[in-house]
Amino acid sequence: MAVKALKGFKDIIPGEVETWQFIEHTAREILHSFGCEEIKVPILEKTKLFKRSIGETTDIVEKEMYTFADRNGSSLTMRPEGTAPVLRAYIENSLHVAKPICKLFTIGPMFRHERPQKGRLRQFHQISVEMLGLDHPRQDAELMAMAALIIQRLGLTVSLEINSLGCPKCRPAFNKALLDFIGTIDDLCDDCLRRRESNPLRVLDCKNETCQEHYKDAPSILDHLCADCDSHFSEVKKGLDLLEVNYVVNSFMVRGLDYYTRTTFELITNDLGSQSAVGAGGRYDGLVKQLGGPAVPGIGFGMGMERLALLLQESGKAPQAKGIDLFIAALGDAAQERCFVICQAMRRQGLQVAMDLQDRSLKNQMKQAGKAKASYTLIMGEDELAQNRVVLRNMETREQQDITFTNDIENWCRELATVIN
Ligand code: ATP
Ligand code: MG
Repeated sequence: MAVKALKGFKDIIPGEVETWQFIEHTAREILHSFGCEEIKVPILEKTKLFKRSIGETTDIVEKEMYTFADRNGSSLTMRPEGTAPVLRAYIENSLHVAKPICKLFTIGPMFRHERPQKGRLRQFHQISVEMLGLDHPRQDAELMAMAALIIQRLGLTVSLEINSLGCPKCRPAFNKALLDFIGTIDDLCDDCLRRRESNPLRVLDCKNETCQEHYKDAPSILDHLCADCDSHFSEVKKGLDLLEVNYVVNSFMVRGLDYYTRTTFELITNDLGSQSAVGAGGRYDGLVKQLGGPAVPGIGFGMGMERLALLLQESGKAPQAKGIDLFIAALGDAAQERCFVICQAMRRQGLQVAMDLQDRSLKNQMKQAGKAKASYTLIMGEDELAQNRVVLRNMETREQQDITFTNDIENWCRELATVIN
């Protein structure tokens, strides 16, 4: 029996890959316009990098990581998210020295051992962005506006939900208020019982309906922000208003990673069932220092490409595969030989060109040209060869023209390319 791919690991085949290229291309263009630079980081890291950054008691670290022992026994983990590896690289390469304000992005696969569902895979892909060096609230607004612009440029609509998680100064008071409140509930789910001990804030993220019903009355973190966090959050909202980015404040949004401080946000859609977040992120002012780097504030987000691709496909906005520029149909050995050379010369002109190498019938070759959605077909049979000419057919208008062939193939192809372009 043929060996199949792993559960939750998916091929992205031709026909689908155009959507991915469209997403990447669009994102790159916008990211560059905001001064973000691409960085490529390894997929495999030391496990302690994620334990230290994401947090020991988060779902990702407790349940979802692909962790295994290397041949020498050291514990390695397939990256479940992009922030920790990018910050590790930022620190290791001292990127802050040349660029006190450093904006980085990476695009690539992430790995989480989850139950695969629509829009939820074990290997999935993220556009992951980090803006380091500034804790100015306008930086937060700019980052969210950029995320919103990527979505908008893709032709999609999602809503932006924002919150502030405060800072180490004000969070303890909120944790206490939350714990007092949780103490009044007697039918918490097992997960929440565990979270209550390890990470009280995370109970608000519980998907259990009974719990959710209780938490509607939970205290709001926004009522517990210190003066600095409160004014930071007001300025973030003002920044979004200035840029005319729509948002809703959701004081129950807590993120599944421990490192967040102050601004957090999610990009939400209602079109993908329960997998509603297409992107999420927030500020992590203590994280770079915590990972052994300088005391540099930062904010970032991860955008899920599978979910973006699904939204594009389901709304009929996914780009179609483009056709080639030219198909060359040659009949007979001598014409085949000459066209083999023309084909290569046309490719040197930058055109997308295909030809049939098997000397099939003209009818068959025209069929191939149609399948390849060629804009033009060049036909050279025995007659044309003898008369030193080719027939160029515009596949859309069906107009045909004779073109005399010369032996200066390079120049001849350059001229032909101007006709086709
Ligand atoms: P969810 O609540 O859906 O599990 P999350 O909070 O775990 O999401 P993040 O860690 O914030 O997600 O990752 C950012 C984005 O990456 C998500 O908004 C989502 O679009 C995408 N994402 C996360 N996990 C997966 C997955 N297993 N498969 C596909 N996309 C994912
Ligand atoms: Mg998750």
